[in-house]
Amino acid sequence: MVNRQPLIAGNWKLNGSRSSVVALAKAVAAGVTSPVVEVLICPTSVHLADVLGVVGNSPVHLGAQNCSDAISGAFTGEVSAEMLVEFGCEYVILGHSERRAMFHEDSALVAAKCLTVQKAGLTPILCVGETLEQREAGQVEEVIAGQLDALLDAGGVDSFRQLVVAYEPVWAIGTGKTASPEEAQAVHALIRERISSHDAAIGEALRVLYGGSVKADNAASLFSQADIDGGLIGGAALDAASFLAICEAA
Ligand code: PEP
Repeated sequence: MVNRQPLIAGNWKLNGSRSSVVALAKAVAAGVTSPVVEVLICPTSVHLADVLGVVGNSPVHLGAQNCSDAISGAFTGEVSAEMLVEFGCEYVILGHSERRAMFHEDSALVAAKCLTVQKAGLTPILCVGETLEQREAGQVEEVIAGQLDALLDAGGVDSFRQLVVAYEPVWAIGTGKTASPEEAQAVHALIRERISSHDAAIGEALRVLYGGSVKADNAASLFSQADIDGGLIGGAALDAASFLAICEAA
């Protein structure tokens, strides 16, 4: 059996000032003591340099929230994978439901981004998840399978070697409504099975995070599930004490 290292990733979204993100990063870095859990923070791209200055010599890893599928060229407003690497990033969140819904990113584009960032040495955190309407219509498996299959089709199962999946039910993000540990575990098992059906070793080694209103008081029960390998944390990642308590629970 593979021992998957838990990963707790903080998605800071569009929040903070230069001084507040430095303070938050300092508080997180000072509080991370256990080498058992991998801790990652993802500020906005313009805050990467400041945050790197704080966590560069700490056990805290740095990631971005989005990236272009292009390497360089006439793509106004975009940031490339190689630029993120230069600023100390090891991970990049891709296909977050906010980007899918508000910026019209489809699964084919998200898959292309995953392949681009992997070539630059970054590990994508591929977000998947169903809306409430899709859950109520009994379409959870179909939706998640479609989101995973876009990358399986584009890059094959090998593209899941250097990658983390985050299962984030859209109805649980920022709503205070969390999937129950059993509901989340059922979808995590589906995700692992789908990848394992292509390659058992890759499926077994794949880290699958849960995201959606994870807080200090519900983290332990979610992380105790067999196929939940940590969390992608939004709101609670903006408070160092809450985020560190979630890291402790992993
Ligand atoms: C997220 O946006 O990835 C997220 C999980 O947010 P929250 O924890 O606030 O639900």
